[in-house]
Amino acid sequence: MERKPRTDFEVKHLRRGVASPRIGVTAALKEETGSVAQEPSKRFVRTDLDYVEGVSEAGGLPVVIPPSLTLRAAEDLLDGLDGLLLSGGPDLDPAYYGEEPIPELGTTIPGWDALEMGLLGLALERGMPIFGICRGMQMLNVALGGTLYQDVPSQLGAGVINHCQTTPKRQVSHRVEVLDHSYLAEVTGRQSVGVNSYHHQGIKGLADALAVAARSADGVIEALESRDFSDRWLVGVQWHPEGMRDNGIGHRGLFEAHVCAAEHHGSRSAAA
Ligand code: MN
Repeated sequence: MERKPRTDFEVKHLRRGVASPRIGVTAALKEETGSVAQEPSKRFVRTDLDYVEGVSEAGGLPVVIPPSLTLRAAEDLLDGLDGLLLSGGPDLDPAYYGEEPIPELGTTIPGWDALEMGLLGLALERGMPIFGICRGMQMLNVALGGTLYQDVPSQLGAGVINHCQTTPKRQVSHRVEVLDHSYLAEVTGRQSVGVNSYHHQGIKGLADALAVAARSADGVIEALESRDFSDRWLVGVQWHPEGMRDNGIGHRGLFEAHVCAAEHHGSRSAAA
């Protein structure tokens, strides 16, 4: 007698007859000083569980990428992945887009920037589907030749809305207008999406390979995507959809679209 699949994972696994697409999720290095003075500081690999859950709920297999790999090791790791999710984090060193730091620039972490930029470059070379969230979206733009506002409030001036909410991630902070005919419009099925907002930097010069997919009322670019999806699957959002998975299908849909693209990429790589 045929055994009935019991879990969602089994259903997906049996339906496709292949393993779930493996999505690399970048993680941060977190240092903590012990409460006892003599205790040495502790170092942790840290990533928000919401990224990991967003990927697994969408049918992907999340693989957390530690921040202290050599690029050589990262390349080996990429061989086993079908997609890359660049998570949020601190400011990117403006040297990556040819600028000196302005006083409003936040903390940058050279080792983390170097590893993520290296990984991203390799993933782009391989045509791997890349989903960038917040800092991840900004990195995607810079890796492809674009530039950033190091600090949106001071550089864009009057008329800028508040992009740094102090409320929980599940709470909508502002709305974004989704551009007609964009891939994002297809995924979300909306012209306007309520989003959270935790960024003081933003996209200044858009990379040639990318198109604007959404803007906030003040004109700040809130989402970008591949100009040509037949060439490669690239999506970046300035908000944190991983924290809004229960706020409507659009946010969850982004993870599903990425996992789907990764599955397609994986089967294409296997056939090559
Ligand atoms: Mn915003």
